[in-house]
Amino acid sequence: GDPDLAADVLAGLRDIPDFPVNGVVFKDFTPVLLDHALRSRIIADVVDRRRGQVDVVAGIEARGFILGAVIAHELGVGFVPVRKEGKLPSAVHAQSYSLEYGTATLEIHQDAVSHGERVLVVDDVLATGGTLAATCELVERCGASVAAIELVLEIGPLEGRSKLTGYDVRSTVTI
Ligand code: AMP
Repeated sequence: GDPDLAADVLAGLRDIPDFPVNGVVFKDFTPVLLDHALRSRIIADVVDRRRGQVDVVAGIEARGFILGAVIAHELGVGFVPVRKEGKLPSAVHAQSYSLEYGTATLEIHQDAVSHGERVLVVDDVLATGGTLAATCELVERCGASVAAIELVLEIGPLEGRSKLTGYDVRSTVTI
């Protein structure tokens, strides 16, 4: 265990008011990425918990790529990018959803994960939950299952968890 991890991550996050639109307080985790020791502790915490339980990691564009790729590397499993519309070159499944600021569509390569594989979904922030719910839907449309969802930060009052019932959702910090 790493009992100080949540407090240290919280101290490393930076609040940016009114980004990208008025009324949203953006939780900027770039200072955490810059801090090698802190970043390593976040990764180790996830890897220790999930080792041997997942076949592949899916990271959500763009900040989920940064964390997800490192976690996949440490777990010794493959990495799958879940991308914004129009970026993936081969045949995709697409899922539209609404988020805290606007609407969006996410895509996954249809052959990225195989039937029956256990997928760890990784992103930085759980806000309203739309992004994660759409990603889980995409994983399941490939015939795979969501083993767990790992996040750095969960914004509790936005109740994103309510869109993710039945999934094993874990955040390094909840505010
Ligand atoms: P949501 O679908 O509302 O849960 O939004 C989650 C996605 O939007 C994640 O990929 C986050 O990176 C980003 N996001 C939403 N709200 C915030 C916020 N207040 N601060 C930082 N990132 C956010």
